[in-house]
Amino acid sequence: AKDGGRGRFHFYAQDLHAEAEARAQMEEELRDAITKGDLQLFYQPIVSTATEEITGFEALMRWHHPVKGWVPPDRFIGIAEDTGIIAQLGEWALRTACNDLADMPASVRVAVNVSPLQFSNPQLPAIVTHAIAQSGIQPDQLELEITESVFLSDDAGTDAMFKALKRVGVRLALDDFGTGYSSLGYLKTAPFDKIKIDQSFVRGATQEGSRNGAIIASITSLAHALGMETTAEGVETMDELDLVRLHGCSHVQGFIYDRPLDAATAKSRLASGLMA
Ligand code: C2E
Ligand code: CA
Ligand code: CA
Ligand code: CA
Repeated sequence: AKDGGRGRFHFYAQDLHAEAEARAQMEEELRDAITKGDLQLFYQPIVSTATEEITGFEALMRWHHPVKGWVPPDRFIGIAEDTGIIAQLGEWALRTACNDLADMPASVRVAVNVSPLQFSNPQLPAIVTHAIAQSGIQPDQLELEITESVFLSDDAGTDAMFKALKRVGVRLALDDFGTGYSSLGYLKTAPFDKIKIDQSFVRGATQEGSRNGAIIASITSLAHALGMETTAEGVETMDELDLVRLHGCSHVQGFIYDRPLDAATAKSRLASGLMA
């Protein structure tokens, strides 16, 4: 038994070692990915429920690995956060999204995901200001998507960062609302322009007896009472679209309209109109 225990320990240690090595390798590769041009931003349309027009896009990162092919963000964003590389990736995403938006009509917005690590960096407002200035877009064309986790460290820094970003003039969206540590407390003061209702509420909402519809409806009415827009995420079917419309969401994002598109396709999507 003693031996078995030691053997098992050895096995775990080897496992951990292998995992640490895989992570270190990915870290190295991610660093190269930016300079080698292996990262790309894709753009998923966000559509107004009132007009059915594209009002903007969410920028979503894609990594084309030389050997593994396309690696989805769920596989590398976490590692990028843990290793701090997200700082470089995030800055690259901000610059690229602003530049791509500069080729589009001025009424269109782009939303960029900002990780908690980026949010805690006092340089973020300067980085954002720079990305806007060098692209020539207007500050309110850029929306930063922030998740609830930034409120976990509820120090004065969080509050100061919100104020600084509002001074820059960008819009702020609360991402993945309802999945984490949701508290109505921070809706009191945090200056969000939009709440993004997580797709876990949309999924199954059309099933009989589901409580999701009621939850979507109350998030929406609360948001609108506070002067915030709402985007329902992950809308895939006509029934889901009807439901989130019925419950008053001002915007919709999901495969029912489009998957994330490369920049050129996103641009032509604007030109051709949504239903074309
Ligand atoms: P997210 O911010 O919640 O982004 C929305 C995700 O939902 C995207 O996955 C999008 O492709 C997917 N999605 C949109 N519509 C539908 C639908 O109708 N059905 C389904 N099943 N999925 C839909 P994606 O692109 O794989 O990104 C996953 C997550 O990775 C993002 O979730 C975000 O947390 C993170 N991420 C992506 N790009 C970046 C980035 O540039 N920076 C940071 N910090 N995180 C990013
Ligand atoms: Ca997002
Ligand atoms: Ca989301
Ligand atoms: Ca998410």
